Amino acid sequence: MTKISGHTQIVGVIGDPVQHSRSPQMHNAAILERKLDCVYVPFHVRSGELREAIEGFKALNVLGVNVTIPHKQAVMPILDDVSHEATLIGAANTLIFCDGRVSGDNTDAQGFLRGMTEEGIDIPVGGSAVVLGAGGAARAVVVALALSKLSLITIANRTRWKATQLERELASISDTEISVADLSSSQFNLAIRSADLLVNTTSVGMQASDQLLIDPNSLNSKTIVYEIVYTPPETPLLQVAREKGCRTIGGIGMLVHQGAIAFEKWIGIVPNVQTMRIALEQALYQKKM
Ligand code: NAP
Repeated sequence: MTKISGHTQIVGVIGDPVQHSRSPQMHNAAILERKLDCVYVPFHVRSGELREAIEGFKALNVLGVNVTIPHKQAVMPILDDVSHEATLIGAANTLIFCDGRVSGDNTDAQGFLRGMTEEGIDIPVGGSAVVLGAGGAARAVVVALALSKLSLITIANRTRWKATQLERELASISDTEISVADLSSSQFNLAIRSADLLVNTTSVGMQASDQLLIDPNSLNSKTIVYEIVYTPPETPLLQVAREKGCRTIGGIGMLVHQGAIAFEKWIGIVPNVQTMRIALEQALYQKKM
């Protein structure tokens, strides 16, 4: 545990609720490992008090905070500066306070890409991807893939209009073609069959009773399957993909890397991602290390 003194710097996370967040364990482990005089604190901030909280952080010289549900989008108009990726994603998950100003960034897209490369898997530049879901996480994933110069991204979501909206909003950010397919349609099955990458950004897979959103028979062993759900560590989709012989990536890497990028932005020091991962796994899966 960090010894608190008059010099101790503060970083943290805001959300409502925030008690469930495992970011404090992950970040404080990295702070301790680097012997920094800093502490990462969860702050319960209600929606009606978001502006006051941000002003308070400025006055208290807080270095930065992560932003979680329900504030990621709501915080955008309050920010003094917004990064290109946060603008494209339409949400900020990382705030940086400096000289009385607050800048917003979004580290989910880069975290997603690093989660892939750390597994030794190349981003399929020029290839195609199917993205399941059209919520907040899907936006970050589609932005990451479109900026990585894939040729085609097919978005499939239970509620079609949300996928169409995402397609419309992100169609012009790069030369990547973005299309929409209905789950279970023949167009969808065809897209899965030929995809270099399949990403699940829905919350389906968190419950043991969740039904697969894809037909396992459409899955090609050459397709990389990336699951961003991180509890449980192996979802039914990952299990099916592993049994098919696909290369698979779980969601914990993205979670660690989005945090590590934020850490570096606040503190200017690269954290030990392995330390962060171990602390996170311990907190999420109650592992005895
Ligand atoms: P969100 O904005 O609420 O979006 C949820 C998505 O899941 C929507 O596309 C929704 O479809 C779909 N969905 C939910 N239940 C479904 C069902 N029964 N059948 C089909 N589709 C269903 O949530 P989010 O922020 O994008 O997060 C989604 C998941 O990603 C969560 O599990 C979250 O923990 C995970 N995540 C992981 C990381 C990481 O770092 N690994 C980062 C962010 C999020 P509709 O539009 O039809 O409702």
